[in-house]
Amino acid sequence: MGTIICITCNSIIDHYEDEKVSVLYSKCERCLEDDTEDQA
Ligand SMILES: [Zn+2]
Repeated sequence: MGTIICITCNSIIDHYEDEKVSVLYSKCERCLEDDTEDQA
């Protein structure tokens, strides 16, 4: 099983099906909103 982790706050966002155990980095909704506010 793969895990998706927020690159900003290191919280687990979601899991996805995968043959291997692996980690993907992304951003959770809250950090995406923060980025939008920063850029605005
Ligand atoms: Zn986050």
